[in-house]
Amino acid sequence: MIIKTAEFLKSSQRWQDCPEGNLPEYAFIGRSNVGKSSLINAMMNRKDLAKTSQTPGKTQLINHFLVNEEWYLTDLPGYGYAKVSKVQRKEFEKLITNYILNRKNLVNLFILVDSRHEPQKIDLEFMEWCGESAIPFTIVLTKTDKLKPGAAQRNLQAYQTKLLEYWEDLPQMILTSAEKKTGCAQILDIISETNAM
Ligand code: GDP
Repeated sequence: MIIKTAEFLKSSQRWQDCPEGNLPEYAFIGRSNVGKSSLINAMMNRKDLAKTSQTPGKTQLINHFLVNEEWYLTDLPGYGYAKVSKVQRKEFEKLITNYILNRKNLVNLFILVDSRHEPQKIDLEFMEWCGESAIPFTIVLTKTDKLKPGAAQRNLQAYQTKLLEYWEDLPQMILTSAEKKTGCAQILDIISETNAM
């Protein structure tokens, strides 16, 4: 897919305030600092469409972008801040789960995990919840340029092994690097293949 246009539309505090759900939508989520903004910018061929390194603990917003006037790209707030209170965490979980469960035009969720780390409990739990909730998702391993060849693949296999403890079918997995633009075309291919609405 060639990116002709990508424009920021709106930040929303609740799923009810999101733009009209009249186009197919693809959402990106992951722990804070996973490289989500960098990957979105790399895919869109833009330097600062998604804002990088937002301050943890700030108001958590759902950001919508319109791409090629055909589909929505959604930048969901990062989860897993160590420094937020229990109440804040619950509020945040509610925001995310309500968005995912209620956003009817959501076609696929891209769950970003850092390729340098072994499978983390918080990510596995979130994936399990998506599976139980019948939400289609793709696992995106980020920052693979920071690893020696083979190491990212090993962590990818570690995810597969963990997920096979619960499921028979594995979600699609993509190795990416925003730095080198690896995997961006593959993500855009998935979006092209599924965005006929
Ligand atoms: P976000 O909080 O998930 O949006 O993460 P950011 O996109 O702000 O990235 C967090 C940090 O990781 C920044 O310092 C980025 O420069 C760095 N980073 C993100 N993606 C990559 C990548 O593909 N390769 C490398 N080497 N660094 C990256």
